[in-house]
Amino acid sequence: MIKRPLNAIAALCGGTVLNDNRGDAAIVGVSINTRTIQPGMLFVPIRGERVDGHDYVGAALEAGAGGALWERSKAVPDVLAEAPLVLVDDTVAALQRLAANYRDELDLRVVGVTGSNGKTTTKDMVAAVLSGTYRVHKTVGNLNNHLGLPLTVLELDESYDAVVLEMGMSEFGEIDFLTRLAKPDVAIITNIGDSHLEQLGSRAGIAQAKLEIVAGLRPGGLLIMNGDEPLLAEGIRSARLPDGVEVQTFGLEDGSRWVAEHIGVDATSSRFDVKGEAGLQRVELPAAGRHNVSNALAAIAAATRLGVPAAVIRQGFAGLKLTAMRIEAGRAANGAMVLNDAYNASPTSVRAAIDLVAGLTGYRRKWLVLGDMLELGPQELELHGEVGAYVTPAKADAVLAFGTLSRHTAAAAAKQFAADGGEERVRAFDDKGALAEWLLARLAPEDLVLVKGSRGMRMEDIVHALQREA
Ligand code: ATP
Ligand code: MG
Repeated sequence: MIKRPLNAIAALCGGTVLNDNRGDAAIVGVSINTRTIQPGMLFVPIRGERVDGHDYVGAALEAGAGGALWERSKAVPDVLAEAPLVLVDDTVAALQRLAANYRDELDLRVVGVTGSNGKTTTKDMVAAVLSGTYRVHKTVGNLNNHLGLPLTVLELDESYDAVVLEMGMSEFGEIDFLTRLAKPDVAIITNIGDSHLEQLGSRAGIAQAKLEIVAGLRPGGLLIMNGDEPLLAEGIRSARLPDGVEVQTFGLEDGSRWVAEHIGVDATSSRFDVKGEAGLQRVELPAAGRHNVSNALAAIAAATRLGVPAAVIRQGFAGLKLTAMRIEAGRAANGAMVLNDAYNASPTSVRAAIDLVAGLTGYRRKWLVLGDMLELGPQELELHGEVGAYVTPAKADAVLAFGTLSRHTAAAAAKQFAADGGEERVRAFDDKGALAEWLLARLAPEDLVLVKGSRGMRMEDIVHALQREA
């Protein structure tokens, strides 16, 4: 964590100390949330739509905060007249400037990860494969935005020699901002999907927005991007690369610098060979799905660049623990296997999940439980229809849909199953409980259920209902 006297903090964030009555006591760490304040931390009040963090500065100081930022435009109340405050124009901008200047003082390797899908997964994989060689920090969970990334940077100190930062976005310019703050040595673009199509206009626009990550790359740095995505290859041609930046591609199709072949996938793991890399044959990955093999290739490319030997990379994967609800395998009632992929969903990631299920063998019946994909913009009905049409009887045995939009998924899937008992095999539900109950009555021990939907759909409720009697 950052550890600096209050006046040094003020200098780093461009503020003015109002009362420095702390003597030499250093500020240790930064928080924007009174619930996570530890003694000595700097509290950064954020003005939100409903609440203003400034109203909690008193509480933060009582909880032990060593100081707080305060926006100049707001009058300091009498009770805080003696408090250790740092006056700034804008607390969010000050937090970001603090992190940016602090990052420049740090001597460590930085890996930035963006992409439409697989950022958190790839971030966890990169951290896992680096951890045999480096003392690694990484973004906790999904804290990948204009607040989470600076806060993660401020968690760094001399006890780390590498950090993996997740970078999320929904608009142009956001990745540009995050990457200029983070100044990565290695940047990864996992893939291009259709999330945020609404704001970015087209898939080419999405590619453009992800490619912003090169703007902050350090001279001589490396961009690692998905080679199976033509829009990235196209977009990189007009991108302005910092001096000496190299571009490497990875993919499941031939032609990339890093290619996976002989891929094997089961419900809980995958294995693959990296083409032409003697030390990376039969790599074991405790994560299911071809899309995870793709994510793993990006992690391999990053680790190799940072000097991690192949054998250490392999060991790193063995110790990989993915964040919850990303194809998390568990048991349902009557012993069926449930894959909880309820963390989020977009057309690309749902197709990836359907491919995973399609490739799994040895099950009596494979059920797809699909909830709405949210935030897709005006094309949402069409996109749900396309996902439904992507499911064929060869890939899964049944589709259960939940949500208003998913009715379109179900309708399109029903057409695929029409010749084959469509009525029984494709169903739309308005209620998660009813869906779970209906399914529970039909589940058998050798069945496999995959549950997926957007965060807002909370599809894990169905997983939990299926597990309740397990
Ligand atoms: P968010 O934007 O919510 O932060 P993310 O990009 O961090 O998402 P993850 O949380 O790693 O993505 O994965 C979310 C889901 O996306 C996974 O459960 C999986 O279904 C899917 N997914 C992961 N990697 C890929 C990939 N390379 N291609 C397509 N889908 C993927
Ligand atoms: Mg994420």
